[in-house]
Amino acid sequence: MLSPLVTGISAGLGAAAAFGLAAGGFAYASKWPGSRIFGEALIAPRRAGELALTFDDGPNAIWTPHLLDVLSNHGVKATFFMLGSRADAEPALVRRIVAEGHLLGNHSWSHLNLALTPAARVREELRRSKLAIEEISGQSVRFFRPPFGARRPMVLRAAREFGMTPVLWNAMTSDWKEPSAEKIAARLQRKIDRLGRRGYATNIVLHDGSHNDAAANRGPSVAAVEKLILRCKPTHSFVTLDAWD
Ligand SMILES: [Zn+2]
Repeated sequence: MLSPLVTGISAGLGAAAAFGLAAGGFAYASKWPGSRIFGEALIAPRRAGELALTFDDGPNAIWTPHLLDVLSNHGVKATFFMLGSRADAEPALVRRIVAEGHLLGNHSWSHLNLALTPAARVREELRRSKLAIEEISGQSVRFFRPPFGARRPMVLRAAREFGMTPVLWNAMTSDWKEPSAEKIAARLQRKIDRLGRRGYATNIVLHDGSHNDAAANRGPSVAAVEKLILRCKPTHSFVTLDAWD
C-alpha cells in the first residue's frame, strides 16, 4: 500500500504531508515515509546516482551471512537497521557486519508499532536496543528507523535525544512476501530510475530477517540485492547513510 505513494515524496515533502492527511488521516500518515507532520527524518538527498542499501529486521543466522557474502563479493557497503533483540541473539554476526565495513542502525528492541506505544516504553525500546548494539559492536549507533515506519513526534524526539538521526526510506517493495528475486529487483530498479530522473538519491529498504518469523525465507531479497548491484554499479555509487547526514 505504501509503494505507489513513496516515490511521491520526491515531488515535495510539504505537499506530501498534506496529501498524506487527505489520503487516510492521522493513522495513515503516521506510517507514510514521506510525511513530515511527525517531525524531520532522513530520507534521501538530491544526489542522483547515489544508492543506499539498507536492511531491516536482522541479524538473521541464515540470511545475513549470505547477504554479507554478496556485498563483500561486490565491494558494496550497506546499512543494517537491526533489532536489539536479534543483535543480542547473534552477537558474532553483529561483529562480522562491523568488521566488513557496514554501518549499524537501530530498529528498536522488539519491533512494536511505536505510534501506538506508551512514551516510556518507546524510550526503553530505543535505549535498550542502542546500548545492546553498541556493547556488542563497540561502535556508536547514530541512526534509527522506526518499525513499520510508524512514528509520532515523541518517537523522533526520543531518537534525537539518544543521539540518533531518524531515518525513513524512498524505495521499498514487499520483498518479505515476494518469492521472485527478479520482481523485487525490477520494482526497485524502476523506483531508482524514477527518483534519479527527479534528481534524488535512493534509500532502499530490504529485509535480511523477520521481526515475527524466525524461519522466514530471505533468499529472494538476498538474490535481488545481487541483481541490483550488478545492474546499478556501472552508473551508481553505493553509500551508507552517514554519507547523507
Ligand atoms: Zn522492520
